[in-house]
Amino acid sequence: MDRLEFDNRFLRELPGDPDDSLRPRQVTGACWSRVRPTPVAAPRLLAYSSEVAADLGLSPADIADPRFTEVFSGNALLPGMDPWAACYGGHQFGNWAGQLGDGRAISLGEAVTPEGRRHELQLKGAGLTPYSRMADGRAVLRSSLREFLCSEAMHHLGVPTTRALSLVLTGEDVVRDMFYDGHPRAEPGAIVCRVAPSFIRLGNFEIFAARGEHDLLAQLVDFTLRRDFPELDAEAPDRLGRWFEEVCVRTARLIAHWMRVGFVHGVMNTDNLSILGLTIDYGPYGWLEDVDPNWTPNTTDAQGRRYAFGRQPEIAQWNLLCLARALAPLLEDPEPLRAGLERYVDVYSDAYRRMHADKLGLREIGDADTELVQRLYRLMHESEVDFTLAFRGLADVALDAPSLAPLAPAFYREDLRARHDPAWRAWLADYAARALRDGEPVAERRARMNAANPRYVLRNWLAQQAIDRAEQGDSGMIDELLEVLRRPYDDQPGREAFAARRPEWARHRAGCSMLSCSS
Ligand code: AMP
Ligand code: MG
Repeated sequence: MDRLEFDNRFLRELPGDPDDSLRPRQVTGACWSRVRPTPVAAPRLLAYSSEVAADLGLSPADIADPRFTEVFSGNALLPGMDPWAACYGGHQFGNWAGQLGDGRAISLGEAVTPEGRRHELQLKGAGLTPYSRMADGRAVLRSSLREFLCSEAMHHLGVPTTRALSLVLTGEDVVRDMFYDGHPRAEPGAIVCRVAPSFIRLGNFEIFAARGEHDLLAQLVDFTLRRDFPELDAEAPDRLGRWFEEVCVRTARLIAHWMRVGFVHGVMNTDNLSILGLTIDYGPYGWLEDVDPNWTPNTTDAQGRRYAFGRQPEIAQWNLLCLARALAPLLEDPEPLRAGLERYVDVYSDAYRRMHADKLGLREIGDADTELVQRLYRLMHESEVDFTLAFRGLADVALDAPSLAPLAPAFYREDLRARHDPAWRAWLADYAARALRDGEPVAERRARMNAANPRYVLRNWLAQQAIDRAEQGDSGMIDELLEVLRRPYDDQPGREAFAARRPEWARHRAGCSMLSCSS
């Protein structure tokens, strides 16, 4: 642990807030405020990611050292750590919300490995900051556990994401009214240490544009280019346009991944979108079970369904438009921003076709094939089919004698299966005929499909079971899930239960089919 080297460029190269109190306030003229985590009573390490630890050069002995738990619960600092909270704003549910900022996230420092890789270490739930507004700066076990497991699961699925080093119980209770309906209860508090090369969000730029702090805006752009996009030429006259385009490209690829694995973020506000195109801020996210483009896990969004599964591509583009508007004051001619937004559409469309070619086991999705894909989604929706199981099952459909049998475990309702059986038969016949025309060797095709269609995802009800058990003091299921989700594309004999469709008890259970922002 003592070998960790810190180089806190965010603090060193960007202006900070001269006030170092935790008093809630509007922070102007600054990108960050210096803070200290608030110590907790009785920290206990619940889980950690051995991969992230290894990336940081931390050994099993480091993890076992009681100081590890002290540091990653906010009770102690390592030499070189200099904690801060970042200032940002954001559009929430389509409306400008003004200053938000790290209300309960505290960056400890930027660890730089001997190879030069930068890992910002950030505690979530470590206490008040100037950006905490009316809230307490803490996080509950259920949401921390969900963030910890899902960041690691996403990484192993090949989806760009922030990572999670550790999950620590604080030994203190936090009071939350889970569904904002007048039923507050005390819940165990917890802290996740998140890790990413950068936690800068679209909203970090928007706040300075909204306040007319254009010098600061230019400074942050320049900093982000230099620190986080070293492959771009920070001196080039067209650097801003190129950088914006790169942000659009990365976001497009990210959303295509979400659509591939059936991930619904749940709160795609502009403050929850990473400038690096990483999945960030795991809140009321969920995994698509029965296919429904209109599904959102977020109860706060149940009316508008702004952040529903099927709307994610369009919302990401809207968010990028907000970023473009924020950057516009820095350009005489907004053309490069317009071009970047167009590029988003092109890259997303290409990625969408490419990943469906892999998911369906076709060499490519030509214009003539889009109808086949659309029909599949319609059928999956109408017959209430499990997204993950259905796609995974497709690889087992024999093209010379197509049958619905490999998809049978994906159906939630027998009556709907029977009703749509003829339509499925017709679709399967067309699909098999189309796939046969490619002439791809069976084993190759199957391997390609199975590398695009995971067997295991962090199903909502699995995470909830891990939470229920952890709240009873048993963290065993966290480790079990972490282990299974390390190899999401491999069939893992003996672990079939983790790939099963949602059980009936979970259909309407809080935490399984619906989640609130309360965390
Ligand atoms: P979210 O919707 O979770 O991304 O949060 C939106 C804003 O609320 C961010 O500025 C968060 O830092 C802040 N926030 C959320 N929960 C808390 C909390 N318990 N304490 C302080 N700030 C919070
Ligand atoms: Mg957030």
